[in-house]
This record gives sequence, structure tokens and C-alpha cells, in this order.
Amino acid sequence: MAAYREHIAVSGMLGLGTGVVSTIVFGFTPVQGILVGWLTAIGGILPDLDSESGRPVREMFGLTAAVAPLIFIERILQWAHLPGDKETVMALFLAMYLGIKYGLASLVSMFSVHRGMFHSIPALLIAAEIAYLGYPRHEVRTKALMAAGVAIGFFSHLLLDEIYSVEWSGVRIKLKKSAGSAIKFFGEGLAGNAAAYALLLGLSFLTLHDAGIIGMPDAPARPMLRTTTAGPAADEHPVAIGESAPLPAFDGPVLPVESGAPQAGRLTGGASLR
Ligand SMILES: [Zn+2]
Repeated sequence: MAAYREHIAVSGMLGLGTGVVSTIVFGFTPVQGILVGWLTAIGGILPDLDSESGRPVREMFGLTAAVAPLIFIERILQWAHLPGDKETVMALFLAMYLGIKYGLASLVSMFSVHRGMFHSIPALLIAAEIAYLGYPRHEVRTKALMAAGVAIGFFSHLLLDEIYSVEWSGVRIKLKKSAGSAIKFFGEGLAGNAAAYALLLGLSFLTLHDAGIIGMPDAPARPMLRTTTAGPAADEHPVAIGESAPLPAFDGPVLPVESGAPQAGRLTGGASLR
């Protein structure tokens, strides 16, 4: 098993590489290059979040606790329909920081086995998808870049752990017990596998939908949207009434026209309503 220092050295170098290549070759902005570089470096230490609590692990949780709110805060404000004023942002930021640094850290140490599912390909994809979904931009290309950065860093960690499980004693190559435990698709415990794949499935669905690769079923979504906008619109946003009211009214006149009845007057009425 490679040490923390070796992991951060390798993923740091890779981060420099992804940053430079994404900016010069792929035309991303220098700021985006710096961000993907950092995410690559962080990706290289993420798998060891499952190891016994020591200084490196505490440092990693500290780093994750500081960086994750920065990346996700805008999305969470949107999802939770919270106001974006400085006080709310500060309260949420501190809650996320403390939640990750202490809450998540103790949760992870309670449930995870070192070299369990954190060191696996599904975990790599989960980390990359979280970066994709959390990145506060709308362009699929930029979000995919950030996800790729995390994936590259994460994979370097798994690879390094595997390389370190090969022992070179003179001419003979011996495999340590830990060989094959980093780059894997399945762990040992059923619960760990189930949790990892359930999370992967959910995040993959959200990611593919966000990227426009798969679509949500439209039919049930529309009436839900209408009822939710109609509710608060009535008391909070008087402007929205004018926007949402013609929608159901427009649905009415369409049907009689198709039935073939002499509805010319109604049709023009409906058309002018629009
Ligand atoms: Zn490791």
C-alpha cells in the first residue's frame, strides 16, 4: 500500500498535467484548468478516506470538508430552495464543513473496511459523478472535465496501491496479500456492494439525465409541475398567476376542435387567448 505522501505526489503531478492539457489542448479557461488540477489531486487521496483515523485521514476529511461546500453550495441552495444571501450561505457552509469533517468521518470509520468498496471502480465512478453533478456550471463539457479529473486522480490511487502490492525481491516478483484489492468491481461484504451499486445506479441516472443522454418520462411530470406552481403562486407571486393561468385554459378549447363540432368562434377565442 502506497503512503499518503506518495499518493498526493502522484495525483498532484497528474493534476498539473490535466490542468495544463485541458487549458492548452482543449481550450478550457485557465481557472477551469486550475480547478480540474485540484480535483485530480484530491481524487488521488479520496480512496483512503476509509483507512484508520490518523493524521493523513483527518487532513483529508478536513480538505474534503472545506472543498465540498465550495463545490456543492450553489447546487444545494438551488435544490433546497434556500435564499442565496450571505448569512444563509455562511450557515450552510459551516453546517456542511462540520457535517463532513466530524459527522461523515465518524460514519465512514464506523461502516467501512479499509480497502473495501472505497477502493473500487464503482467508487471511482461515484466520486466522478458527484463532481459532475455538483459542479456549479451548466455546460456538460466543463462538468465532464471535472469528473474526468476526479476519475484520473482516483484511478492513480488505485493503480498505485496495486503497484505497491507487488514485491520485488531480487529477480523474483511476489504478490502481497493486498494484490487485486484496489482495482476491483466487487468487495467482500454484501452490504458494501449493495450500497455502492445502489448509489452508483442513482447517481448514474442523474448524471445521464443531466447530460441529456436519457430523458425523464414527460407525461407525469407536467401535471405535477402545474400543481406545484399553482400552489405557492396564488399567495406569494401574483405575477405568476397570469403566466400559469392560461395554460389549463388553453387545454380546453383544443379538444372540441378535434371532435369536429362547429366551434369556429371558440377556436378563435382560444387562439386569441394564447
Ligand atoms: Zn489506498
